[in-house]
Amino acid sequence: MRLDEQVLAAARRYAEQMDARGVAPSSEAVAGLAAFRHQLPARGVAPVDVIDMLDRVGSPATVSTNGPRFFGFVTGATLPAAGAAHQLATAWDQNTALAAMSPVSAAIEDVALGWLRGLLGIPDGAVGSFVTGATMANFTGLAAARHALLTGLGWDVEGQGLFGAPPIAVVVGDEVHIALIKALGMLGLGRERVIRVPTDAQGRMRADAFPALSAPAIVCLQAGNVNTGALDPARELIARAKDSSSWVHVDGAFGIWAQASPSLAWMADGYDAADSWATDCHKWLNVPYDSGLAFVRDARDLNGALSTTASYLPEGATIEAMHRGPEASRRARAIDAWAALLSLGTDGLTEMIDGCCAHARHFAEALSAAGCAVLNDVVLNQVLAALDTDERTSAWIAAIQVEGTCWCGGTVWHGRRAMRISVSSYMTTAEDVERSIAAMIRCLPA
Ligand SMILES: *Cc1c(COP(=O)(O)O)cnc(C)c1O
Repeated sequence: MRLDEQVLAAARRYAEQMDARGVAPSSEAVAGLAAFRHQLPARGVAPVDVIDMLDRVGSPATVSTNGPRFFGFVTGATLPAAGAAHQLATAWDQNTALAAMSPVSAAIEDVALGWLRGLLGIPDGAVGSFVTGATMANFTGLAAARHALLTGLGWDVEGQGLFGAPPIAVVVGDEVHIALIKALGMLGLGRERVIRVPTDAQGRMRADAFPALSAPAIVCLQAGNVNTGALDPARELIARAKDSSSWVHVDGAFGIWAQASPSLAWMADGYDAADSWATDCHKWLNVPYDSGLAFVRDARDLNGALSTTASYLPEGATIEAMHRGPEASRRARAIDAWAALLSLGTDGLTEMIDGCCAHARHFAEALSAAGCAVLNDVVLNQVLAALDTDERTSAWIAAIQVEGTCWCGGTVWHGRRAMRISVSSYMTTAEDVERSIAAMIRCLPA
């Protein structure tokens, strides 16, 4: 068999067998990974045997995140068109750094960014950058923020670094995602010198508790609390931030996708007034890893921060990919997103997002009917369920993970142990939800 046919056959077998196996791999399969741990041989192994080993030892030790019943973290599967486009693009192996190396990636990236701006409510002129994930998308948006604010204070941060620079305040909600904090650390803005604004019962930043700012600051909003799914009230918060001419950055890894659904878009009201946005395509757009996305309102701020030439940007000029992102050489991530969007259409995207949210509501209703506590307002795709004691909740989560029908992770919500259900896969059907609810009820500890 040819190598490409061998891979295709293995991938098909993997998908077909997914339903019969547990979502988490068996402990035998994980123990079997020891087979990989041998010395690198002096003589190379034939490619067919390399792939054979990868499939034989590797496939059983995967977690079925590319399936319908993985509800851990916020994890999307891979839409068929996105996965197939990814394979063809891998055959092309294009370097997206410069259009000269790949006119096709540059063109598709431009089209995909335009569609995504429209869907996510981001202003027309904003410039976008495909990165590895929301962590790097936050880094990218915050790098532009740092450049803009320090340039305004007469400081060349790209040239001189932060030694001796005028300080800039950074405002975050108390429920800020650790990825944003990490990005602040990487940019020298400090993980710990942030001003934390108190949050409400759903984890949203409280506009009434927003601090009085005397100078421009970087204000970081979150569209999509990782536990509850709630979006910060952008309209009120951005109005407060703009009183001090602050830069508003949005971490919208999954929640900003509410904008793509007419019935949910009210939650994303006002986010279009921000200055930079970070999101993921590998979460709710269901494209392969890794795929994050950053947008910055004014191209000059992004270019100023991340261009390696720092040349003046003529109005209307296209900026090469490597001058609007942290990376130089990179794969053509936009192709996966373009294929996902084209195969869904706007209606399909809305249906996928609304469908995940409807499944989340159904989980919440069925689990409360079974006597479990639902700790959040289920406004998006996230559900927090708990039992009467933390010990019982932990035992419940562990039992569900071992039982194998589905997989959910744990969290601590306002001091209480909870199970987090995130519905983010296009594959999840009503039947998958019923099967998962039945398993959750079977696994309730005595
Ligand atoms: C998932 C997530 C991130 C981190 O995204 P990665 O793609 O893992 O880098 C950041 N912020 C929020 C709100 C998230 O949900």
